[in-house]
Parts: sequence; structure tokens; C-alpha cells
Amino acid sequence: MKEYYIDYQSAKPVDPRVVEEMTPYFTERFGNPASLHAPGDRATAVLDQCRARVAGFIGAAPEEIIFTSGATESNNIALIGYANKNKRTGNHIIISEVEHISIHNIAKFLEKNGFRISKVPPDQFGRINPEKIRSRISDDTILVSVGWGSSEIGTVQDIKRIAAILEGTGAALHVDAVAVEGLIPIDISTTAIHLLTLSSNDIYGPQGLGALYIRKGVKLAPITMGGGQEMGLRSGTEPLALIAGMAAAADIATAEMVAEAKRLASMRNRLIEAVLATIPDSHLNGHPTERVPNNAHFRFEGIEGESLLLSLRDEGIAVSTGSACSSKTLEPSHTLLSCGLLHEEAHGSLEFTFGRWSKEEDVDRVMEVLPDIVLRLRRLSPLYTVN
Ligand code: PMP
Repeated sequence: MKEYYIDYQSAKPVDPRVVEEMTPYFTERFGNPASLHAPGDRATAVLDQCRARVAGFIGAAPEEIIFTSGATESNNIALIGYANKNKRTGNHIIISEVEHISIHNIAKFLEKNGFRISKVPPDQFGRINPEKIRSRISDDTILVSVGWGSSEIGTVQDIKRIAAILEGTGAALHVDAVAVEGLIPIDISTTAIHLLTLSSNDIYGPQGLGALYIRKGVKLAPITMGGGQEMGLRSGTEPLALIAGMAAAADIATAEMVAEAKRLASMRNRLIEAVLATIPDSHLNGHPTERVPNNAHFRFEGIEGESLLLSLRDEGIAVSTGSACSSKTLEPSHTLLSCGLLHEEAHGSLEFTFGRWSKEEDVDRVMEVLPDIVLRLRRLSPLYTVN
């Protein structure tokens, strides 16, 4: 059966152009940048050049980028590293309620270790009102962490406004940019962001690699100990092939982002319009306009997202019920609950995310089968009366 992959948020294929650039670093161009011989020097040159390319992707300087094992590790180094380094200044940290699970769990860890955590609730669309952040800032606030976009409901935050509010308060701003990278241009030089998390796979680079932007002058305490690579903040031999892959992926994203975002938005908008027009009692989760261009997140009254997902799976369509990171738990999404949805409403949600190899026929295929699936499941549902 033909497969239709509409779950780019969970994992993306590596772009073949990226694979081509990575391949020599697995074999003949291998090397450890820490070595003092010629292959080591060559590895150092590649590492420096790749760091500059990833920095260029967000308008940063090369010395402001460290490579990590992925977005989760970048978030850990940013939050725990900043909190530990700056605990003499204050112990208060603000996050939003719509953060990725990694940020929530890091905040829980910091709370157990003596930090005070405030969580800012979103509006019904998942947007954080920057004034609500302002009202929670106190003299002991050292850090605010807000994701640029939600990889679940797609809502994009007004990061420029949040950064402006923090200026002069002494609190640093960490931004998890995973949901927007490669879809919305990021220019660190025009926004007062202190720490920014990137992932390689989210721009069609290899999995197992991420990066953390650390603004010049921002100090972090290391959270793992080792050989002192990556400014002492992420010890461990640098994986040259993965790093070359992320650099290639960043160059491609920079060159193609604007046209690709337009293409994805048009496909995604067609799906949203078709679903809302043809399926009664269906709703769009997240913000109607301030959302990443590739995300459509729906809720269907009276039925479970899991049943929908499995029925679509039978038709060869791969989608998600929400955050891939917690999709194997039966807990409803914390993001949807914080937007004010009831448990049963959160359970009736389904997420479509398009990407580089998505085609208009993916939308056609969904619309061919989804209305009938919804109707069939509603006929079986005690929570819904089909007229
Ligand atoms: N932040 C966001 C916004 C995410 O969506 C994810 C998951 N893709 C992560 C962080 C964690 O990424 P990883 O699992 O690659 O470490």
C-alpha cells in the first residue's frame, strides 16, 4: 500500500544532499579535532567551518555555538547550566505552560534543587501574553524560557516582544526554536535572546545532533564532565559526520526556507479549509494565523485521536495524536489542557505536519478517507449522536 507520511514533527528524513556531504566523514575524512596530527588538524578545520555555517543560519558568531546530542540536551545545558551558574543572583525561573516536555521536566528537576518555578498559562490558542511574563518577574528572576513555537499545536510566540520586556530586568531569555527552525527565519542579531536551542533533524539533518546558541558573555556551568570539548560545556569527541550534516542542512534551509514555507502553508491551509468545511464538529487547535506553516492540529468531537490515528494508519496515512515524545502514554497533552480543553476534547485531537517531501496528493488522500472514518467512529461513540 502507498504510504503517506504527514508526521514530519516526529521525525524527518535526512535530505540526500546532506547525506552526500556527511558520507566522507564516516570513512576517509574521519578524525578527532583534539588530535595533534594532520588528520586531527583537518577535522578541526571542518569543525570550525561547520560551526560557522550553523552560526550563520541564525545570524550568530561561530564562538556562540556549541554542538550537543540534540534539543533535549541543549535545553538541559541551557536551563540547568544557567541556573547553577547564576544561583547567587536569584533562584526564580519562568517558563510557559506550553513548553516541550523536556523543559517541563528540567523545571521540575530544578524545583527539587531549590529553584522557584513560575509557569505562565497561554490563551485558548496557545499564545503567551508577554505582559503575563512581565507581571511574574521579580528581583530574583534569573531566567525565562519560552519556546518560539509549539511543535504540537503549532502556535508561534511573539519572541521579539518577550525579549523586549526582559531587557533591563536582569533575567536572561532561553528560546527553544526547534518547532520553527527552517520554517521561520531566525536572526539572533536583532533579538535579545541569550540562549537558543536548535536540533539538526528538524532541518533535515541527522538525528543525534543539536546545537545551543550562547550569547557572548552569558556564562553556564557544565552539567556533564569530561574532556572539555565545546567550551567545556559539552564534553565528548565531536561527531564530525553529524556536524557536517547539520551544517549542510542549515545551508539548504537558509536557501530554500522562504519558498518552502509558502508551499507548505498553502498545502496545510487547503487541509484546514477542507476538514473544517466537510467534517461537522471539527475544530482547529492552536492559533488560526500565528502558527508554523506546516502544522494542522484538529479536534473532532465525540471520538478519540488514537482511534482516528489507527484508522488512518490502515489507509497508509501516518499522523500523530500530538507530541511524539509522549504519544505512547495515555495522558492527554499538557499543552491542550493548558489551552483550556477538557480531557475528552484533548483526547480527540490529531496532528498533521507536512515537510519537504509532502505533496498536494497527501491532502487529497486524507480528504478521501478522513470524513468517512470520522463518521464511522462517531456511529460507534456513546459521546456523539449522528444525525
Ligand atoms: N523541543 C521541542 C520543541 C521538540 O519538539 C522536541 C522534540 N522534537 C525537543 C525539544 C526534543 O528534541 P530531541 O528529542 O531531538 O532531543
